[in-house]
This record gives sequence, structure tokens and C-alpha cells, in this order.
Amino acid sequence: MTSTPKHRFMQFDIIALGEPLYELNQQPDGRYLAGFGGDTSNVVIAAARLGSHCGYIGKLGNDPFGDAIAALWAREGVDSSAVARHATAQTGLYLVTHGKGGHQFSYYRKGSAASLMTPEDVPASIIARAGYLHVSGISQAISETAREAVFAAIDAARKAKIAVSYDTNLRTRLWPVETARPAIEKAAALSSLTKTSIEDAEALTGISDPSEIAAHFLKLGAGFVIVTLGAKGVHVATPDRHAEIAGFKVSAVDATGAGDAFTGALLSELSRGEDLFAAARFANAAAALSTLGYGAVEPLPRRHEVEAFLAKHESATARDRAHRP
Ligand code: ADP
Repeated sequence: MTSTPKHRFMQFDIIALGEPLYELNQQPDGRYLAGFGGDTSNVVIAAARLGSHCGYIGKLGNDPFGDAIAALWAREGVDSSAVARHATAQTGLYLVTHGKGGHQFSYYRKGSAASLMTPEDVPASIIARAGYLHVSGISQAISETAREAVFAAIDAARKAKIAVSYDTNLRTRLWPVETARPAIEKAAALSSLTKTSIEDAEALTGISDPSEIAAHFLKLGAGFVIVTLGAKGVHVATPDRHAEIAGFKVSAVDATGAGDAFTGALLSELSRGEDLFAAARFANAAAALSTLGYGAVEPLPRRHEVEAFLAKHESATARDRAHRP
């Protein structure tokens, strides 16, 4: 196998920091099905399924849910040697219940092991050997010390000239917009790549036009900006070029974690040296496929599935063109 000099010294394509969560999803008969979540953990699993070498930094409880998450990472090939176990604090948990108004999330994460993370828990030497560091607004929201840990990780990445990927992932149940805004804008300003959604950006900035949202984050200092537009796809912006990259039509059943599937696929493609706009198209396909099943992790596609989906889509498009009068 050949490897570029960069790869020879790199331990991970992508390393993420934040809070993994155990999921209990209510079924029609009232029982709960076990699953997994936590935005940054979803991102590295999405990228690992596409062939990237990924790792995670964080804290789990020394409990059965922590064991289950560690086993999940092991199955998915995500390195968790930088994840510590807290002696007393528990692993975070959330329930998904389904009612008349759609699905509802209830979180049990206050005082969780991950929320007790501090800057001392951030291994700068591991970050320095990654291609990308991925962090999010949720990693920042879970506690003040976790927020400091995120900035310590960003600082370590920037000092080592490692690209920082940042998802605004605003959760107003964890912190009010007024508290979130300065921390999110500061992290976005320090990022090489900021991903936001129309909903997050509207709440944070009052702007609803994707191109203006992208311009706002570019002006703050983000290197590239992606604004996700649900089924419509994404708006991708660099200081030189803006483009809307269309989403793929699928019979979506559950878009939970679609944004994480997108980010994982995007970072995986960028790690392989793909151009940002081509990577966004691939990531739209991976994210569309992730909506075909329930939960954030289970339906994440493998590389051959995304490639087959894209090939099928391309041949259908070519057929349509040939039949056009
Ligand atoms: P988030 O708010 O978490 O960023 P979105 O709901 O905007 O997530 O979705 C992220 C990406 O997932 C979209 O940009 C698109 O590529 C894909 N996606 C989401 N919903 C659908 C859908 N219904 N059909 C096809 N693709 C989808």
C-alpha cells in the first residue's frame, strides 16, 4: 500500500470531541429499542463506515451504557483510546417517544461523565496527528468546562495547523440563544469549515437566506460554510464561490442524524482529497440514504452503497436526457 507523507504521520483522518449518548426509542408496542446518538459520535461513525480512520475524545460513565457505546465504537472501527471512564458520573441517555405531534426527545444527561470534561482532558498530541478535528455547539453546550474543553481542542488543532470542522447544532434546551451565540460565533470564526442549518442560523443571526447566512459565517472567519437545507440539499460557500448542491429524492422515513451523516461523509471525502463541491454532492447522497431507516447510527451507509446509489442516479439522469424530445 502506498501512502502520502501526510498520511504516514497522521493517526486519524478525523478526530471528534463531545458527548456520545445511549438512545432508547419507543416502539409502537410501548417497548424501547436501544440505539445510539450524540452528534459528534455519529459523525465519526458515519465517516468510519465510508472508510475513514477516526477517533473520539471524551468521557463515558463506568456503567453498562458506557460499555455499550465503547463496544459500538469498537464494532465501527472508531478508536476510543482517548476516551476516559469517569468513576462516578453516568453516561448520558435520551428517550425518543412518539406522539400526536411527532417524535419527542427527553434527555437524561445533566451531570453526565461527558459534561465533566475539562481542558485537561484534551490530548493536544492526538489532535495534532489528525487530519480534521470535529466539534459542535452541543459539545460546547453541555457544561462550561466542556465549552472550555472545546476551545482548548480548537486551539490545539490550530496550533498544529489541523483543520477544524464545526457544526453549530444549536440546542436551546441546553443553553439559551443569548449564551450560545457568542460561543458558537467564536468557534465558527476559528473553524476551517462551519456547517449550520437554516433553522440554527435563523435563530442565531435572524438571517434566513442561505447565501446571506453563508456570507455571515465567512465574514466571521470560517474558511468554508455549508448551510443544510433538508431534502433540498445544501448551500456550499467559499470566499470565491457559492453553489447550491441539490439533495437526492428518496422515501425518507426518519431524518434524525441526517446532518451528522452529511458531515461525516463530507469530511471523509475531503480527507480523500476530494474537492469541496464534489464532496458535498457525495455527502448529500450519504445523508439521503441515512434517512431510509430509523435512528442516527443504524442506517448510516457504507461507501459501496453510496457509490451504487450515485451510479444508479447518474444512469437514470442519462436515460432521462436521452428520452428528452
Ligand atoms: P441538519 O438540520 O441536522 O443539518 P438537515 O435536515 O438539513 O440536517 O439534513 C442534512 C442533510 O441530509 C441535507 O442537507 C440533505 O443532504 C440530507 N437530507 C435531509 N433530509 C432529507 C430528505 N428528506 N431527503 C433527502 N435528503 C435529505
